Amino acid sequence: MGKKIKAIGLFSGGLDSILAFKLLEEQGVECIAVHFSTPFYFKQGIKGIARRYDIPLIIRPVMDSYIDVLSKPVYGYGKNFNPCIDCHGFMFRAALGMLDEFEARFVFSGEVLGERPFSQTRFGLERVAQLSGAPGLVLRPLSARLLTPTIPEKEGWVDREKLLDIKGRSRRRQLELAAYYGIEVDSNLQPAGGCLLTDPRISRRIREYVKRFKNHSYIIFELIKTGRHFIVEKDTALIIGRNRFENDVIEAYDSRGSIFRSVSVPGPVGILFGYKAEDPYVRTLAARILASYAKPSQKEVEVVFRDEDLLLIQQESRDRFKRYMI
Ligand code: SF4
Repeated sequence: MGKKIKAIGLFSGGLDSILAFKLLEEQGVECIAVHFSTPFYFKQGIKGIARRYDIPLIIRPVMDSYIDVLSKPVYGYGKNFNPCIDCHGFMFRAALGMLDEFEARFVFSGEVLGERPFSQTRFGLERVAQLSGAPGLVLRPLSARLLTPTIPEKEGWVDREKLLDIKGRSRRRQLELAAYYGIEVDSNLQPAGGCLLTDPRISRRIREYVKRFKNHSYIIFELIKTGRHFIVEKDTALIIGRNRFENDVIEAYDSRGSIFRSVSVPGPVGILFGYKAEDPYVRTLAARILASYAKPSQKEVEVVFRDEDLLLIQQESRDRFKRYMI
């Protein structure tokens, strides 16, 4: 018996990606799923979903190279700061880079023609495949018969006739297929969602960081949803907690920046990070902002940096610092 054909599938944890996997498996292709987690998108419970449907899953975090895509997408952004075409292209490129490692021959995904505006129009799917660097090796089993034949189809690694021609936003055929494969469709399997780059408020914040920080490795993207954020100087930012929980979260990042707190009156914890985090002027500005969120005080507020340096700050109105907020 010849060696089984192997393929790597992008896995979002949504129903479509499971179906694409099952369709190819049914044709005898040995499939490996990969989920690229970014600071902006990680599907909760994805390991459990993969386990439930016997899908071997690899999770690969991506960061710096992803931020490059985010800052200069070839095909621009969707409604918010979501560069979906470039993002998909990037993920296919990354999956193609794993082919040798897993002795796989092609990559695939659960994308459906016309299911989403922007990235899954015919134009979007073609551009995504182009960006991958090897468009002939990118297969979309759910819509393949409506798309240009790919190398796996032409070479007979998969049978094009057994691939599908699903198109559009109706989920009817996917639900029928789910029933056929015994997949229980609950809210967990709904199309992806949850990407912070599509969240109007958070994506605005991410955009500001990406735009204003020259060195993106300074940015603590892990705290993007936590606290109030201020860009106090180019390449330098401040995050201050809004409650005790957020203060604790921020403190856990002390290795990434300077933690400071008000010690004379109850107040938030803050973290200052970036290129100019040690600059005395910037530190004083950060302390002034932090003090404006401390309990009102008649006296100067004592703010301590890194549990070492004490600054005495005259409390000011928060409104003065609104322009730094993102
Ligand atoms: S929604 Fe987010 S994760 Fe999904 S393709 Fe768009 S940018 Fe990428």
